[in-house]
Amino acid sequence: MLEDLQCVCDGRNCQRTLGENQLMLRMTTEAGERRAYECACGAVTVTVVQ
Ligand SMILES: [Zn+2]
Repeated sequence: MLEDLQCVCDGRNCQRTLGENQLMLRMTTEAGERRAYECACGAVTVTVVQ
């Protein structure tokens, strides 16, 4: 299980857990790695991993 790939949706009234299946974009920047997840509710959650 890759726990660092999981986060919780930012969407209103949505507490879905987002994982590898919802990951749509991965980008490495100077600030760290950014990951964008698209939830089934339509919200996109972006996380930064340092
Ligand atoms: Zn959601």
